[in-house]
Amino acid sequence: STTPPYQVTDPATGEVIETFPFATDAEVEEALARSQKAYEAWRATPIEERSAIVKRAADLFTERAAELGRIIRTEMGKKASSGAGEAEFSGEITAYYADHGPELLKETDLPGHEGKAVIQRLPLGPVLGVMPWNYPYYQVARFAAPNLVAGNTVILKHAENCPRSSAAIAKIFEDAGLPEGVYQNLYATHEQIATMIADPRVRAVSLTGSERAGTAVAEAAGRNLKKVVLELGGSDPYIILDSDDIDAAAETAWATRMENVGQVCNGNKRMIVNEGVYDDFVAALTKRAAAMTPLEGEDGDDTVYSPLVARKAAEALHAQIQDAVDKGATLHAGGEISDGPDAFFAPAVLTGVTPEMRAYTEELFGPVAVVYKVSTDEEAVELANAVEYGLGGAVFSTDEARAIAVAQQLDVGMANVNTPAGEGADVPFGGTKRSGFGRELGPLGIDEFLNKRLFYVE
Ligand code: NAP
Repeated sequence: STTPPYQVTDPATGEVIETFPFATDAEVEEALARSQKAYEAWRATPIEERSAIVKRAADLFTERAAELGRIIRTEMGKKASSGAGEAEFSGEITAYYADHGPELLKETDLPGHEGKAVIQRLPLGPVLGVMPWNYPYYQVARFAAPNLVAGNTVILKHAENCPRSSAAIAKIFEDAGLPEGVYQNLYATHEQIATMIADPRVRAVSLTGSERAGTAVAEAAGRNLKKVVLELGGSDPYIILDSDDIDAAAETAWATRMENVGQVCNGNKRMIVNEGVYDDFVAALTKRAAAMTPLEGEDGDDTVYSPLVARKAAEALHAQIQDAVDKGATLHAGGEISDGPDAFFAPAVLTGVTPEMRAYTEELFGPVAVVYKVSTDEEAVELANAVEYGLGGAVFSTDEARAIAVAQQLDVGMANVNTPAGEGADVPFGGTKRSGFGRELGPLGIDEFLNKRLFYVE
């Protein structure tokens, strides 16, 4: 099994706060049986009733936001106010599916068959969610809410450093009035996940996380012919073709990269900047990076950075940056870590990254602004598409038509023009290439784990 059990370790200090045991195999079996039994009743519950319960859960995310924010401050490090904001957004997502579920799940007529042939949107059964720590509430909400409204039951395996937040989510659904077994939180091992995927009662699995985890879960799903949705890593291009206010452009780019101290799957990990504005842009970013100070206590403003999720993550990022510097890249600010055991990583600006460096091809999951210089739009596109990831991307220009022309060429699941990322409960999220497949959120999110049954009456 996986080495440590579920455990809360404060990344600001390295102190172990609380440890939780893994589920036993008997508990896993009970959870499966309960999920299957609950499904029979839940699928038969009128959708208006299902939505009303999910709507109460949405309200609880909002009501409990401050407390939820403090929980993840100790689990994964983010500022308590950011955590509270995340909990509120999770409430919005949950409410979106409660409000729009009935409409999104309506059957649709096939044209040309005069009402004889319709597509019904029926639930599948128990679905398994495997979720990461970077947005402990949001990741779960965007998976659980549509499935619960659709009539599926949910078994959730959260990251091992999120035992408290995952329990708090389960409590929200319980307090909202979900019948027993409709939503269950399990402190499962990786082996138990494989066992559950192989079990005929589990009908599908959704994973958000690394390629390594995605590969393991997709393999198990493939062997057992289960549908899988994968939301994996990214190294999104963020292209600046020109600008009439480079300081404002740098402000936006920096704030975007610093979101969640850079631990964002669709973060702007590769800034690709035209030579006309490159020097000013790098200088403006460097000024901001140099002004950052580490978090003390629970909260701070935008010039304060929180620790990464764990000491190991800070060391791994440090090694990636060190590799680049050793091979000739330039570090303009930041990049240092302490002797430990805390997980603070000083926000950095890195230039001169070339294909033989790890930083060129690998995802940098932390506060490092890598900036590339290009001289033409074609070069920008080529560099943007040069990695194996294809999650999102953004293109900025004072000439919207020029930005659109470049954005049209991005091989990604989410292309944005003159904005870092268009996001919301109603906007689909997902990638292509090694960033995964399938979509969450919006109308596409609820469509993933349904039996879209043809119903034909002659
Ligand atoms: P991770 O190690 O892959 O963990 C994600 C989840 O997968 C955790 O619950 C983890 O459980 C589980 N897991 C890992 N290996 C498994 C296995 N062999 N079998 C079953 N479950 C397994 O990911 P991370 O490093 O914490 O998260 C960061 C990555 O997620 C980044 O690459 C980031 O870009 C990506 N991400 C993608 C999106 C998106 O929407 N595309 C969103 C956020 C993050 P344990 O904790 O027990 O290992």
